[in-house]
Amino acid sequence: MSEAVSKPVPIPDALSEPFFAGARDRRLMLQHCTSCGTWSFPLRERCPTCMKPTLEWRAASGRGTLYTFTIFHQAMHPGFAAHVPYNVAQIDLDEGVRMTANVAGVDNADLRIGMRLEAVFESPGDGVFIPKFQPAAG
Ligand SMILES: [Zn+2]
Repeated sequence: MSEAVSKPVPIPDALSEPFFAGARDRRLMLQHCTSCGTWSFPLRERCPTCMKPTLEWRAASGRGTLYTFTIFHQAMHPGFAAHVPYNVAQIDLDEGVRMTANVAGVDNADLRIGMRLEAVFESPGDGVFIPKFQPAAG
């Protein structure tokens, strides 16, 4: 008799804690540079545009557009075996950064490049929440 294997769960660290704290509150937090106004993702110590250490956390809109996606038919980790086929997508957020996430709430066959999406939050366990995206309402 086999035991189900859980999905791996992110472990927040000092840099990423504000991102995960926001996700627990169902807010998509991104870093924003107070010197040049650039949003950035993935997480960094310094602004990738002006190189100053002036990044602060701000709540993003949580809205974006589907840039591309792929469908996984083989589980790359046993924790995902029960979820194949599943999508992995890249979403261009309205703030100008690209994020990789799953798109939920739509059949994989109905995914369309350019469709409008909004963030939703799901917990894979251990009290950690991560963003996914779903078709935007309205
Ligand atoms: Zn900057």
